[in-house]
Amino acid sequence: MESYTIRYVENDGDTVCPRCGKCTVPHCGLGLFSDEDEEPICRRCGAECAPAMIALLDLAFTAERVGKSCHRLLTPPMESLLDLAHAAEKYSHSKAAQRGARL
Ligand SMILES: [Zn+2]
Repeated sequence: MESYTIRYVENDGDTVCPRCGKCTVPHCGLGLFSDEDEEPICRRCGAECAPAMIALLDLAFTAERVGKSCHRLLTPPMESLLDLAHAAEKYSHSKAAQRGARL
């Protein structure tokens, strides 16, 4: 069984997904990696092979965006809180679906 990790990517140039060879992956920030590849996997391929990890990346991106936009506010706007709740719910459902597939 293949395993996946989330790593911080800090490259100067564009990268190509090792799975499909077509997609350009953002070259700076968090990325999904398989144990077999040195380059990050694109979102589309990651959604097929590791949907829970993509949902976790989405949660991290949402938290980063909300954190940057609301860091000086005492209470984040409701829209930001709903975005975080939605991303967390997607991750929770993807983990639940993954556990169900293993049973
Ligand atoms: Zn791909």
